Amino acid sequence: MAEPSFRQASYEEIAQALRSHDGFTVCGHVNPDGDCIGSVLGCAHLLRALGKEVQPIAALKDPLDPSLASIPGADAIVRAEDARPTPVFITVDATADERLGEAAAALRAQVSFQIVLDHHEVRSCAADLCRIEPEAASTTCLVWDLARAAEVPLTEDLAACCYTGLMTDTGRFQYQNADARAFRSAAEMVACGIDVSLISQEFFQNKTVAALRAEALAVERMEFLNGGDAVLSWISREDLQRLDARRDDCEGIINALRSIGRVHVACVLKEYDEGLVRGSFRSKDGTDVAALAARFGGGGHKAAAGFTLECSLDEALCQAREALSSLKDA
Ligand code: 5GP
Ligand code: MN
Repeated sequence: MAEPSFRQASYEEIAQALRSHDGFTVCGHVNPDGDCIGSVLGCAHLLRALGKEVQPIAALKDPLDPSLASIPGADAIVRAEDARPTPVFITVDATADERLGEAAAALRAQVSFQIVLDHHEVRSCAADLCRIEPEAASTTCLVWDLARAAEVPLTEDLAACCYTGLMTDTGRFQYQNADARAFRSAAEMVACGIDVSLISQEFFQNKTVAALRAEALAVERMEFLNGGDAVLSWISREDLQRLDARRDDCEGIINALRSIGRVHVACVLKEYDEGLVRGSFRSKDGTDVAALAARFGGGGHKAAAGFTLECSLDEALCQAREALSSLKDA
């Protein structure tokens, strides 16, 4: 990858900018996950601790799912469509406009000062201050380090937000990104008094019956490709209606497919709207699924990536089959 064309800001510089401005919006990516909402709310706690006005926002189609709604401060989240412009916009866990969604990107375009905190591999960043660490396990690790640099009290709520992002983005400290920094940061967060077992329950023992039924259906339909080391499955709009399932109910399916021993790369297609298919890729053998997702106009991390296709589910299945059938051994 080419050298990035932006200047990496230090945490001290960003902390100074937080102190010298007032009126902040904090926003993450579309289809928000634990790291996204954890980062948004972690930043909100940090800013309030500095005595600042803050508007945490999210690109939301449906209400936040119960796991995300359990993150401290979630009730203050404003839908991007209903948000007002503020002098400063902090983007977390995302960099480009496409990842923000239309409403948030339009809001960001109106502000006078922009900050980006992200852990995705990006080539360019147009913000006034960019802190982008692709090697960081979660964006909440950046928020945590920023809180330390800003010398705000490391409260239980702030720690819970940051721990949530770290726990979810490392797959409960199991993925390749679960490095010494991740564990060190987690230890610091735990020392702030968070209830690790309760946070874990909110995310991992909080499934709906519909989610389990959707998972069963997707498992039933698995197709093995590339000699059996790739797996593909799907959920249609009709399935969602029949099972009375929400989008969030399908987000765990990919983990079930990936958990099969011989599977190295897993893909799930989800027809969330007519003519709009969301795809998720996961790999566990070093296959770069971000590159695979990029072929479909998406992206993400090497081991976890996603994309959206504007086509029928059948067409998307054909394309995914083709991509998975031609994987090389990593
Ligand atoms: P998921 O499969 O959970 O939706 O996405 C996995 C990861 O891939 C996310 O954490 C995010 O980093 C990334 N991702 C998902 N969808 C997209 C997309 O459309 N574009 C980009 N650039 N990244 C995505
Ligand atoms: Mn993340």
